[in-house]
Amino acid sequence: MNRPYNFSAGPAAIPEEVLQQAAAEMLDWNGSGMGVMEMSHRGKEFLSIYERAEADLRTLLAVPPEFRILFMQGGGLAENAIVPMNLSRAGVVDFVVTGSWSQKSQKEARKYASEVHIAASAEDSGFTTLPDPAGWSLSRGASYLHLCSNETIHGIEFHTLPDLRALGSDAPLVIDFSSHVASRPVDWSRVGLAFGGAQKNLGPAGLTLVIVREDLLGHALPICPSAFDYRVVAENQSMFNTPPTWGIYIAGLTFQWILRQREGTLTGVAALEARNRAKAELLYRTIDESQLYYNKVATDCRSRMNIPFFLRDERRNDAFLAGARERGLLQLKGHKSVGGMRASLYNAMPMAGVEALVAYMREFETQHA
Ligand code: PMP
Repeated sequence: MNRPYNFSAGPAAIPEEVLQQAAAEMLDWNGSGMGVMEMSHRGKEFLSIYERAEADLRTLLAVPPEFRILFMQGGGLAENAIVPMNLSRAGVVDFVVTGSWSQKSQKEARKYASEVHIAASAEDSGFTTLPDPAGWSLSRGASYLHLCSNETIHGIEFHTLPDLRALGSDAPLVIDFSSHVASRPVDWSRVGLAFGGAQKNLGPAGLTLVIVREDLLGHALPICPSAFDYRVVAENQSMFNTPPTWGIYIAGLTFQWILRQREGTLTGVAALEARNRAKAELLYRTIDESQLYYNKVATDCRSRMNIPFFLRDERRNDAFLAGARERGLLQLKGHKSVGGMRASLYNAMPMAGVEALVAYMREFETQHA
């Protein structure tokens, strides 16, 4: 089946093999006579799906044993409250603000932490650079430091996570990795907690992934709802309440798909990382070489997943989008807060999709020269 290429920022394209398997198993999962949405979360069928998904995720992201994997609900925005409810201990928390998502996170944390300290902000650059960690103003005794490791709207990515200990802080690092999870390996030695919605690189909306170091469990504020207390969720294998069973199933199929990926001698996430690097390079090169398109982000922190770009003549935006749709290139319109275009090149986007996009961009530029 020839499907169009879908550049949505999320919910986003899911690997076709995953959709096909889910379709084939919709009415009868593995001879059980039930579809996955119809099963008890405590039955042996769903438990086997859950256990495999968790084990595969641990393998593909190389999650060390001292970290717990939690499957939650509420998305990244709920985590903006759930993280401070669990980790702030009502003390000071540090934030690095590098775009809309970290901005939202620090605002929400003010409801739960006694003080939110902005350790660094890229707002003055219009969120086109990353502030150098060497210059961050870190609070003494902060409960944690939060950053968004890939800003989906501004298209800014931390290509290396900061080593807070080397910067003189004992605070655990919290990362919102919603929009680049599983696109590259994670350096867990630098992370205390990572969270992300599934709807970009892992599966459907409705599932939120939290990976948290064990020593950070058990410190929730008394007001924290039990279903959002990481210790309660961990003690109940993410089944304190009914988990998002369908989301876990599709994410599990996506994890199997990731583990099957090969690129030369590389496998799994490393293979995807190599592919993602090549896809992003091709699109950025096309933008930088053109007279019509431009991207505002400093070259050292450009996101490989979300690539915003603009037409120098904004009056051509609608024509650009209409032509793209005609060629089967979908959902390229930029986020309403920044305008222009945005191409999200998540794991499920093949190189052929990026090649089709850049061919169209060149054609459009020639036609409108
Ligand atoms: N963080 C980031 C980096 C995101 O991209 C998004 C969604 N685009 C969110 C948080 C919010 O996620 P949700 O809508 O699932 O709450």
